[in-house]
Amino acid sequence: MANSILSAKVMQNEAAAIAWVEARVWPQGPVCPHCGGFDRIGKMAGKATRIGLYKCYQCRKQFTVKVGTVFEDSHVPMNLWLQAMYLLCSSKKGISSNQLSRTLGVTLKTAWFMSHRIREAMRVVGVEPMGGAGEVVEVDETYIGRRAIVPKGAKGWYNKNTVLTLVQRGGSARSFHVDGNRLDDIVPVVEANLKRESAMMTDEAPVYREVGKAMAAHGTVNHGQDEYVRGAIHTNTVEGFYSIFKRGMKGTYQHCKEKHLHRCLAEFDFRYSNRVRLGVDDVERTARAVKGIVGKRLTYATSHK
Ligand SMILES: [Zn+2]
Repeated sequence: MANSILSAKVMQNEAAAIAWVEARVWPQGPVCPHCGGFDRIGKMAGKATRIGLYKCYQCRKQFTVKVGTVFEDSHVPMNLWLQAMYLLCSSKKGISSNQLSRTLGVTLKTAWFMSHRIREAMRVVGVEPMGGAGEVVEVDETYIGRRAIVPKGAKGWYNKNTVLTLVQRGGSARSFHVDGNRLDDIVPVVEANLKRESAMMTDEAPVYREVGKAMAAHGTVNHGQDEYVRGAIHTNTVEGFYSIFKRGMKGTYQHCKEKHLHRCLAEFDFRYSNRVRLGVDDVERTARAVKGIVGKRLTYATSHK
């Protein structure tokens, strides 16, 4: 394990970990989370001072890099956060809270809490629609788990949660937990997340017909007639995404509740959108997740909703 990334200094030493996170969150130097000031900030020193404590002389408040992020209110040392983020970022099918608890030596409750906050950091916010001229985006839906209102043992897709996913070929993935597979559930999400200049690929579900007409092109494959590929017209990319997602959900997150499904989706989207084939290695992926901690403060109470 001598060369393991987990034995690196940033993973073992809290001060080094905080400095590493600061460099990613504040590339231009510390920014006060209370007033937004950046030019009159002093680093607090002294033996009794917490590591990474700053004072803003504009608003006279103190802060660390954790304030206003998913790490706020957490007593877990930053180096353990980095270990957890690295593990979640580098495991293709995710990592269970049980495994995380054993690997990090924290309680199951803490591990569970950390996983949820890390997924929140991975969640992409405020992005523009996908695709564009010359881009191909595959859209499909899948069914997973059991809806909370359905009694145990009930079978059939209508008892499951519906997930809608857009995958741009050679690009990123975006998944949504939607109410069902009716027009009202699917079309508004596609319209809001897909540029009209894109070529859209779907199966022959009628729900995609009208929205398909609004796109530059719409290719459909008829799965009912065992037709899966017709030249560029296929949905193999989004199906490949679902295959990793489903193996992860079955093997690692079999107890993911409906109310947390959107965060599990964010995790699988994040790893896919920052994958090796796009030039992102495990360390860079972890660094990108760290950049996502800002502005997503998640308390214990909100993570239970
Ligand atoms: Zn300030």
